[in-house]
Amino acid sequence: MNVKIPLSKPYIDQAEQDAVKEVLESSVLSLGPKTVLFEEMFCSLVGRKYGVAVNSGTSGLHLAVKALGLKNGDRVITTPFSFIASANCLLYEGVRPVFVDIEEDTLGMDPNSLASKISSETKGILPVHVFGQPGRATKTILGLAEKHDLMVIEDACEALFGSYQNQPVGSFGDASVFGFYPNKQITTGEGGMVLTDDEKVYQTIKSLRNQGRSDMDTMNFTQLGYNYRISELTAALGIAQLGKAKEIMQKREFAAETYLTYLSEIDELTLPVQPEDCQHSWFVFAVRVRADWRDLIIAGLGRSGIQSKAYFYPCIHLQPFYREKFGFKEGDFPVAEQVSREVIALPFFTQITEEQIKEVADSIKQIIYELK
Ligand SMILES: *Cc1c(COP(=O)(O)O)cnc(C)c1O
Repeated sequence: MNVKIPLSKPYIDQAEQDAVKEVLESSVLSLGPKTVLFEEMFCSLVGRKYGVAVNSGTSGLHLAVKALGLKNGDRVITTPFSFIASANCLLYEGVRPVFVDIEEDTLGMDPNSLASKISSETKGILPVHVFGQPGRATKTILGLAEKHDLMVIEDACEALFGSYQNQPVGSFGDASVFGFYPNKQITTGEGGMVLTDDEKVYQTIKSLRNQGRSDMDTMNFTQLGYNYRISELTAALGIAQLGKAKEIMQKREFAAETYLTYLSEIDELTLPVQPEDCQHSWFVFAVRVRADWRDLIIAGLGRSGIQSKAYFYPCIHLQPFYREKFGFKEGDFPVAEQVSREVIALPFFTQITEEQIKEVADSIKQIIYELK
């Protein structure tokens, strides 16, 4: 396929080039001032006390699970409609994911189904702000966590800059995690961040990131740790990207509004909703179509050089590995399964232009016209 409009694209300019060059010339390439500054900037943006930068969102989730004391045999309630890392991070520690079906509009966990999933083995809830949509279930989750003494890990990897009831996404859980893969709102190539307000959890995560050291300068290893560190080059990229946070937010907001305008006249599409209390952070622009049209539309767009993608298909519980390990089958979570057959992510990135969006919208219109 000759790509004319890509699915995603990092927003990189001279600022990132200068930032990386400065680090290269400094000769401090790991565990230096850039990492600390990136962590501090991130904490103040999301309004949390402590941040630990790590080498991926997945590593961040793993450390959050471990540092909060979740362990073999525990159960954690989470969503089957997400990127697989949000469930895999539990399996690393032998924790069993207990899936709950999603609600059709926000695509987050259904708040009305949560309570019935709690058993004596349940030790936590792991919500995901899917596609940058803050979960409407957030309030219910926090209430249940309080009542049943459960840990909450917010997978905020897709939702940097989003907010729920005017509080930033990532400020709710006992720990929250962000990721900086190239298709995310900000990118460092690979990278992630764990946030918490609990000093002990913070110290544990910092130690686990760095081989389980008791503190940075010693060769005293007090627990089984990992090398989940980031380099100073990565941190410098993060700082440069955060410097553009406002611009990135505004541009993505504009792109999403433009899509909503151009696509609103196509009756065959279900567009993303913006419920009260939930300030979307636009990660992808995902629409839904009749399941039997989805692959035809993706192929049709591809013929015009427009990249698009079925997103979170199949659901996590229907991935071969999960079927085999846990015996999940089709029909277990019907809303998530139906949605996963219908979603198409359209080209979406910070610098996408109105002309490009119009071209995508026109192509979809034409393809649907031919399908009817
Ligand atoms: C991107 C993402 C992650 C983390 O991904 P990494 O590639 O490990 O940084 C985790 N959960 C969700 C829902 C994501 O979208």
